[in-house]
Amino acid sequence: MKDSLNIKTTKAGQSRLAETDFRDLPFGKVFTDHMFVADFEDGEWKNFEILPYGPISMSPAISALHYGQAIFEGMKAYTQPDGSVSVFRADKNFARLNKSAVRMAMATIPEDVFMQGIAALINIDKAWVPSEENYSLYLRPVMFATDPVLGVRPSSSYKFVILANPSAPYYSNPLRVKIETHYTRSDNGGVGAAKTAGNYSRAMLPTVEAQAQGFDQLIWTDAKENKYVEESGAANLMFIIDGKIVTPEVRETILDGVTRDTIILLAKSMGITVEERRVAISEVLEAIENGTLTEAFAVGTAATVTQISEISYEGKNHVLADPATRTVSPAIAKKLNDIRYGVTADEFGWNWIV
Ligand SMILES: *Cc1c(COP(=O)(O)O)cnc(C)c1O
Repeated sequence: MKDSLNIKTTKAGQSRLAETDFRDLPFGKVFTDHMFVADFEDGEWKNFEILPYGPISMSPAISALHYGQAIFEGMKAYTQPDGSVSVFRADKNFARLNKSAVRMAMATIPEDVFMQGIAALINIDKAWVPSEENYSLYLRPVMFATDPVLGVRPSSSYKFVILANPSAPYYSNPLRVKIETHYTRSDNGGVGAAKTAGNYSRAMLPTVEAQAQGFDQLIWTDAKENKYVEESGAANLMFIIDGKIVTPEVRETILDGVTRDTIILLAKSMGITVEERRVAISEVLEAIENGTLTEAFAVGTAATVTQISEISYEGKNHVLADPATRTVSPAIAKKLNDIRYGVTADEFGWNWIV
């Protein structure tokens, strides 16, 4: 990709690659040598730079810290069989970042800043993109308000940063989840559809409490009646009932997941019926009891597909069909991985070779 931004590059003196143990890559802890940064000032994006990954000096008054104007994205890059690097559906993440920016009254980002920032970072840290099976490079764009002003109003300056982490395959035991009926993640008129910092901080106490009760995760319900399934921690939810994929429709309280969209398109192409609609807790529990619910799983960039083995509701635990017996979601997940790793034809045009 041509660099029309004239990105200024400062190379890291010494690469940390040699001393990095790729067999020990806890999520989000190991960063590549560099990062991409840009500033929004005086109404325009400027100061495009690749810098050594490290601290950025800033005023403790920046409004992101006080009032939460902060948004992020998460996507992955994969080494292809010919050694090139592909980023999966980056256009969707770009569009969603700007959707989040609009909702949080922040500056939006031009497509060339987002895309060329990613390309420049991957190019300089190409040696960090793992080529081992099922590994990837996780990309974390983040934008936050930098006005050093305590007044409550939209900031006039922002910083955009892209970080990258080499990531190991994500293995997870099937999840035991609790349907949350007290705390909520988002509400009508709120910011649930934005990937914004406050949605994750407000979820921390409820999640820690659920974990103390022995669950891995929560299923959030609607804030109005606590009757409908919304989504999980940082993943959307899908159920297979009577052979059809049933998933909560995207609405202002639910994040529009790229993996969710991808799985729906793949499922349809494989002849599976998909229903995007409100999903009542009662429907899910009845389908578990009468055996028509054969699979339940969470979908997101980190894990692709994570099976759910047990769902607890108001103190009663419901055990689902044995994850080992499930065939539909593993088949879709395999097709998705084959596309991401360039093993099978990219018939939807999802791979962007950087
Ligand atoms: C990021 C996220 C998802 C999953 O989105 P992907 O684009 O598939 O990674 C789902 N729900 C929430 C709340 C999220 O933050």
